[in-house]
Amino acid sequence: MERIFSEYFPYVRHPAVLPDTVVDGVDRIRHPVVIVGGGPTGLALALGLARHGVKPVVLEADDTACTGSRAGAFTRRTIEIFQQLGIAEDVMATGLGWSQGWTWWRDQEVLRLQMPHDEDQQYPPAVSHLQNWIEHLMVEACAARGAAQVRWQSSLDGLEATGAGVRLRVRTPAGDYMMHADHVVACDGGRSRVRESMGLSLQGTRYAGRYVIIDVRMDTADLPSGRRCWFDPASKPGGTLLMYKKPDGMVRFDYQLTDDEDEAVEMEPDRVFARVDAHLAMLGIARPWQPVWMTLYRASAMTLDRYRHGRVLFAGDAAHLVPIFGVRGMNSSVDDAHNLAWKLAWVVRGLAGDSLLDSYSDERVYAARENLRFAMKSAEFMAPPSPPFRLMRDAVLSLAAKHPRVAQLANPRQHSAIPLVASPLNARTDGPDAFEGGPAPGQIVPECPVRFGGEQTWLTRLLGPHFTALWFGDAGHAPRIDTDLPFELRCLQGDGDAATRLWRKFGADEGTLYLVRPDGHVLGRWRGLPAARLAEEVRAALAVVHSPTA
Ligand SMILES: Cc1cc2nc3c(=O)[nH]c(=O)nc-3n(C[C@H](O)[C@H](O)[C@H](O)COP(=O)(O)OP(=O)(O)OC[C@H]3O[C@@H](n4cnc5c(N)ncnc54)[C@H](O)[C@@H]3O)c2cc1C
Repeated sequence: MERIFSEYFPYVRHPAVLPDTVVDGVDRIRHPVVIVGGGPTGLALALGLARHGVKPVVLEADDTACTGSRAGAFTRRTIEIFQQLGIAEDVMATGLGWSQGWTWWRDQEVLRLQMPHDEDQQYPPAVSHLQNWIEHLMVEACAARGAAQVRWQSSLDGLEATGAGVRLRVRTPAGDYMMHADHVVACDGGRSRVRESMGLSLQGTRYAGRYVIIDVRMDTADLPSGRRCWFDPASKPGGTLLMYKKPDGMVRFDYQLTDDEDEAVEMEPDRVFARVDAHLAMLGIARPWQPVWMTLYRASAMTLDRYRHGRVLFAGDAAHLVPIFGVRGMNSSVDDAHNLAWKLAWVVRGLAGDSLLDSYSDERVYAARENLRFAMKSAEFMAPPSPPFRLMRDAVLSLAAKHPRVAQLANPRQHSAIPLVASPLNARTDGPDAFEGGPAPGQIVPECPVRFGGEQTWLTRLLGPHFTALWFGDAGHAPRIDTDLPFELRCLQGDGDAATRLWRKFGADEGTLYLVRPDGHVLGRWRGLPAARLAEEVRAALAVVHSPTA
């Protein structure tokens, strides 16, 4: 039910090209990694693999970035990942940062959402942008860095995976061919052909609630950035409506169809336009606007049980479908890609045994289940699945204006990084964890300004395509850590206000060491161990991922 009225920006259309390596219908090169699907997950994974020294092939069925808009709000964690992938500056230069949200019940404001933000953050809690624009930036970054070979208009038709490798059948207007890969990552979205070829299916719930989504272009100069949500507004009695200001003079409306509304009738453009007019009139906004894109959305909360099936891995919407309320769709997909990129690259480069890929599945299935748990609460609040739910929801909303605690039940629970507290990779400590504060193994390192190498920078910028040991103390006493794995030691001294805050955030004192994975999760932390023992501990922790290839 998608309708496109005009382009968001001039899309670059890419031709179908038969690669030089294809002879007599077979690609003569065996590729270490083939990514099926060049949406945000596949492109983020391609950029991530390239950072770790592996150049994948991306098969993309379409000839351009997605032409609809889809995801529109990106969380701080996603922007921090974009910083690692080298596209954060472009995203921030063109996006709109925000930290607030407003919720109304009928004509009464019942909740003012203030997302956590402080002077230690490099990026705002959320950024409004357009998924297709971000895909476009990713495609440009891939091309500029030679990060991946993107094969446009190349559809995966089917595949056979064995213990020895994966055979793929590819269809393109320039000619069909077979190819071989050591590993395949399915990033081919909710209707994944890879999933279907392997006889796998997502398990979970499909919601009955239906939402009309429409992007319009108008003068937005005086509109606030942030999430604005109405329950039972005069413009859409009995339903809910979300409104976001987006960059480039765009506004997105998501509104719920009630059970008695026929979607064929309600998706008639004139009908949808009248809804937008009614809502703008309710807000006292009288100005021209033009439609850009509209679609009908149904929430699903589903996942595969495992994201690794031998040499085939699943990521993004191919692995899970998360209701969009709480902005968990694309944000969690980018997190999948970031988790998988270093692990797959390290396996391909022979730096780790392939069991490391099982930890990708364990960690990201756990994260997906957490995301689903939060997103389902939001989805049920937005579109109650039954009359008793609706009664309860309306009771909460009617009390919310006077009782701030009750109002918190209307909190949309925006996406943030899921701590991987039970990860099999987390290093063990002797006895109980000796820290009262700071990020425990499995958590993401918190952001903080730091002085490093004579320059002012941010802690997350000290991380890179390597393990990072954060050493709190004098550089002269830092342990010598002997390893042939990609590894950097960063000494963080304790002078000045920001440094004091940093040490406090990590519960650190002289001689504390945190070992951080390439994706920013803490792997282990130790305090006051003798340097030699510390080096041993770090080697032992690294050995968790450095098991010899069988
Ligand atoms: C209407 C709608 C609104 C949404 N709104 C939000 C939102 O507000 N916030 C949010 O966080 N998320 C939102 N989402 C979810 C978000 O868009 C997805 O989570 C995100 O697109 C997942 O990215 P992906 O790369 O995994 O999959 P996709 O974006 O679906 O990309 C898959 C890619 O694979 C390609 N492909 C498919 N089959 C093949 C094949 N056989 N061979 C080769 N290539 C193939 C496709 O062309 C596509 O480029 C929305 C989704 C929809 C549908």
